[in-house]
Order: sequence, then C-alpha cells, then structure tokens
Amino acid sequence: MQNGRPIIVNLIPSSNPAHPLLKRLPEIGAVFHRDRMNEKEFREVAPHADVLISASNLKVTDEELSHYPALRMVGDFGVGFDGFDVSAIARRGLRACHTPDVLSEDVADLAIGLLLALARSLPAADAFVRAGRWPNENFPLGRRVAGCRLGIAGLGRIGKVVAERARAFRMEVGYTARAPKDVPWQYFETVKDLAAWCDALIVVIPATPETHHLINREVLEALGPKGFLVNIARGALVDTEALIEALERKTIAGAALDVFEHEPHVEAGLLKLGNVVLAPHIGSATVETRDAMAELVMENIRLALNGQPLATPIPGTRKD
Ligand code: NAP
Repeated sequence: MQNGRPIIVNLIPSSNPAHPLLKRLPEIGAVFHRDRMNEKEFREVAPHADVLISASNLKVTDEELSHYPALRMVGDFGVGFDGFDVSAIARRGLRACHTPDVLSEDVADLAIGLLLALARSLPAADAFVRAGRWPNENFPLGRRVAGCRLGIAGLGRIGKVVAERARAFRMEVGYTARAPKDVPWQYFETVKDLAAWCDALIVVIPATPETHHLINREVLEALGPKGFLVNIARGALVDTEALIEALERKTIAGAALDVFEHEPHVEAGLLKLGNVVLAPHIGSATVETRDAMAELVMENIRLALNGQPLATPIPGTRKD
C-alpha cells in the first residue's frame, strides 16, 4: 500500500499512453511501470506491490514473482498464459486472472479474414491495383472458400466461434481437440488426420510444452499442395523452418500468420514469400475488445483486493 492505495507494478511496456488497461489502473491504485523504474526504485517498490500486471506475450517467472513477497494477484491482459509460470503462481497461493471470451469474436474474425485474404490474394490484389498494373495485366484467379473443408485445430472458446462463422460461409467444418465435443462437426483424433481431410487448417490451440511444433513437417505434408494454413494461436505451435520449406517448395498452397515463434521478429524466409499473408499479432486488437479486456482485468483486480474469488481465474491457480 502507498498512502492507503494498493501498489500496482506493471510489466506491459508503458510507451503507449492510450493502452486501455494502463490508462485505467490509476483508478485502483498507485501504478509503477517496470520499464520506467531504475533498480533502486524497483527495490523500494517491489516488496510492497499488491498487484502485478502483465500480458500473455510477456514472461512471469518464479524468479520475477520472488521480487513481490506481498503480492495478492497477477493480472494477464490476454487469454493465453503461456508466458506465465502457472505452477509457481499456484505454489505461492496467488490469485491470477486472464481475459477469456471477451476477445473470441475478434480473433475468430481475424482467422476468417486471414483465410479470405489468403484464398483471394487480397494483399497482392491491393498491390496490383496501386502499382497501376490493372489496365495491362490479368490478376491470377483465387480459390473459393464456400464449400471448402475447414479444419479447426482447437475447438475451445475461439475455435467454436470460428466454426460458426465458417458455417455462415458454407464451409464444411471438421476439428480436433483433446476430446470430442457435443457438436455436429466431424471429430479427428489427430491434427495430422484433420490436415489430411481439410482444404484449410486454422490453428487455435494454446501454446504448451505438448503443443510445441504440433504443426510439423508431417502435418504440413498431410495438408498438401492445395492446403492453406492459418495460425492465430501462438508461433510456437508451428515449426517455422518446416513451414518455410513447405511454402518454398509449394507442398502447401499458402499460410496466413498472426503469430510468430520469435515475434516481433519475423523470419526472413517468410518475408520473401508471395504465398503468405502476415499480421502483427492483432487477433484481439480492436478498440471495443481491448476496452472489454481492460474492464475484465479491472473487475478481477477489485475482487482480488477484496479477498474475493476472481471472475476469470487462470486455470490451475486458486479459485477461492
Ligand atoms: P480454449 O477455450 O482453452 O480452447 C483451446 C482448445 O485447444 C480446446 O478445444 C482444447 O481441447 C484444445 N487443445 C488444448 N491442448 C490441445 C492438444 N494438446 N491437442 C489438441 N487440442 C488441444 O482457448 P481459447 O480461448 O479458444 O484460446 C486459444 C488460444 O488462442 C489461446 O491460448 C491463445 O494462445 C490464442 N489467442 C491468440 C490471439 C491472437 O491475438 N492471435 C488472441 C487470443 C487467443 P479441449 O477442449 O478438448 O480441452
């Protein structure tokens, strides 16, 4: 506490003053941005911190947590928590929240948008018109998505919304998950079987040690020379080296990626290719959704500071 106000340490880069959560945190407490504190200030503040704020693309390790002995909760501005040491959070008896559901519509929109951009070569079409080539050349034909088989790897909150949208586009839906769901779509035991069946594979599975490079050479081979890959999950799900090789050799037709293994660095091999569409991790990046995510984190912080169970605890952390 500082002057009776909770102390919040924020790990999210503070360079964007319009960040919807960073703007609102002062409503609750005294905010200290990690990237603006020198070591002396950090050593003074950290032992008294009540709340630690981070995001799914940042690391919250056991070592990081050891700086905050008075901590009551950790907030994740995002749904994925692959950067968080969940077992260390649980062992320390901390509450931790994330932002499920509120972003599912936007991420599903981006998945379908990327698939359409890929199938209809929208970035190339835009460049073609701007370059003044339209009067003299024919733009190559694209591929139809209506009637195609869409494989959804991960039929969780986001995957189900992708499936609903795909049905509106009259795609045939198949999926894989850890277990079959009560849905009218075909279930595949493995992602390789799903890839062999579908024309386009959308990946929306959390990054965990088990899912690292789930989309490997074998899966890409199964997807085949007419197959499209869309990754809106995490870069770690895809073996990038194998993907670049498959794209170069045209053993798959194309890929659309919102996430990368070493983001914000994008492998040079991907940047050179024409059969890819690239986005800078913008799945949830709309004004409305980022506001809703901020609101949800704020609600969880208030609950934690009142000693109440969180609205959206990270699975595996305390629920009481
Ligand atoms: P979710 O509701 O937890 O769904 C995850 C799905 O993945 C579930 O269907 C789960 O199967 C399946 N799954 C988990 N491990 C698996 C495995 N080893 N093999 C096969 N399937 C597996 O999560 P969500 O809210 O949909 O979010 C999914 C992920 O999307 C997040 O973790 C995050 O990494 C990513 N994401 C990206 C963006 C972006 O900006 N691009 C934004 C938001 C989220 P069961 O249902 O059988 O357990």
